[in-house]
Amino acid sequence: MKKIVTIIGARPQFIKAAAVSRELKKHLALNEIIIHTGQHFDDNMSEIFFREMEIPKPAYNLNINGLSHGAMTGQMLEGIEKILLEEKPDWVMVYGDTNSTLAGALAASKLHIKVAHVEAGLRSFNYKMPEEINRILTDRMSTILFVPTDTAIKNLEAEGFKNYPTQIVKNGDVMQDAALYYAKTSEQQSKIISYLNLKKFVLATLHREENTNDINVLQRLINALNKINAEIPVVVPLHPRTKKILAQHNLQAEFKITDPVGYFDMIELLKHCSLVMTDSGGLQKEAFFFQKHCITLREQTEWVELVEKGFALVAGSDELKIQNAFEYFRNKKSDFNINLYGNGKASAVIVETLLTA
Ligand code: UDP
Repeated sequence: MKKIVTIIGARPQFIKAAAVSRELKKHLALNEIIIHTGQHFDDNMSEIFFREMEIPKPAYNLNINGLSHGAMTGQMLEGIEKILLEEKPDWVMVYGDTNSTLAGALAASKLHIKVAHVEAGLRSFNYKMPEEINRILTDRMSTILFVPTDTAIKNLEAEGFKNYPTQIVKNGDVMQDAALYYAKTSEQQSKIISYLNLKKFVLATLHREENTNDINVLQRLINALNKINAEIPVVVPLHPRTKKILAQHNLQAEFKITDPVGYFDMIELLKHCSLVMTDSGGLQKEAFFFQKHCITLREQTEWVELVEKGFALVAGSDELKIQNAFEYFRNKKSDFNINLYGNGKASAVIVETLLTA
């Protein structure tokens, strides 16, 4: 039996790991042990996903949060190393681009434990983003890189990965696996559309540091959302970080703000909305999965194929660009029936690869 230690800590990682864990459970030859670093810890940022998505209970919870990047990553590194020395797994599996991803990959590679990185090879080429540093370093330390797109392969080749012994496997996107699976039951599980009495609305989220750290940038984004809200109601399940900063600076949001919602509610919001506006990596793709256009509230995106195929527009925090993108998508019809992300088989490819690796 192969032992796999999965390291997760932030909301998007719970969603990705849910899809892969479900697939791992089908194979007696693979034993998964989950470490939760504690990076996200509120009920609505963490627990709810374990409950709703039936993610196995973590064997370890390091409860590390609310620290600077360095302190958080350092404490995680120490905590994860201790567990890996005890558990002696065959593989460590990490997801995406958070501090938990970097700490997990670094702890494992120093102990000569093989690292599988899911959602590898993505680049924004913005080296000020903490996520960009985390993903570049994690890719370099990994044994297998599970990449979602051809662009990711090209990014790795440009960085010289052809010269490294790293195995690159294009498996698609595990978030699509999750979206397809949970969309089957979300309507029975979620009451959010009737609870918020929603008809036609725009779904938006905002939480990336590049948008929340600079108050002028955040003010522009709030202005843009306020303007769109005057035409179509905007609904924002708000990340705790953004909520705190809005209150600190007394920024006035005229749109509907809710607490962060669970995954079933999110799927129902995605199914029923007219348009998505977001700086979230995951939500840009989920908009596509549910056949919605997306205005990307960042200066760059890793999901370039969405822009190339006309499903998304990158508008940054420029009020005029955002308004123009809104007008552009208002009556636009697109054919979303194109396979960009693997059509729900991405987790199966990961498990098949690990069974023989
Ligand atoms: N999400 C959610 N509830 C919310 C906001 C987001 O379930 O209130 C989900 C969303 O559908 C996506 C994931 O969280 O699957 C994205 O996480 P986030 O935006 O925090 O991180 P990023 O994708 O930018 O790394």
